[in-house]
Amino acid sequence: MTETNTTPKNDLPAVYIDDILMSLKYFTDEHEAHLKIIDPQVCIRCTGKPCVQFCPVGAYRTQDGGTVQIAFQSCVECGTCRVMCPPANVSWKLPRGGFGVAYKFG
Ligand code: SF4
Ligand code: SF4
Repeated sequence: MTETNTTPKNDLPAVYIDDILMSLKYFTDEHEAHLKIIDPQVCIRCTGKPCVQFCPVGAYRTQDGGTVQIAFQSCVECGTCRVMCPPANVSWKLPRGGFGVAYKFG
């Protein structure tokens, strides 16, 4: 279990990211990926490959040869890669209706 907020400075409760992720439900669209790399050659030239670090669920993985693969099935639709890929090399859209991640509240 990973505790990410242990400081009671702001009186907010501790947040356990693993517990939150465990509570999600995924409705995977096996026929249409909502995330795609636009140009694999751009990823090969991308130094640092920040997507591998900033995606909260580790959906980005470096492949042999320097390309990057997205495990779109595990995406929690946070939108980070939509704005944080330096050359804007990710095609991002919401999953089709009825698909994607479902958050439970309460
Ligand atoms: S940050 Fe963007 S360009 Fe760089 S490797 Fe990741 S998806 Fe490719
Ligand atoms: S939208 Fe968020 S969770 Fe989904 S692949 Fe991009 S960074 Fe990862």
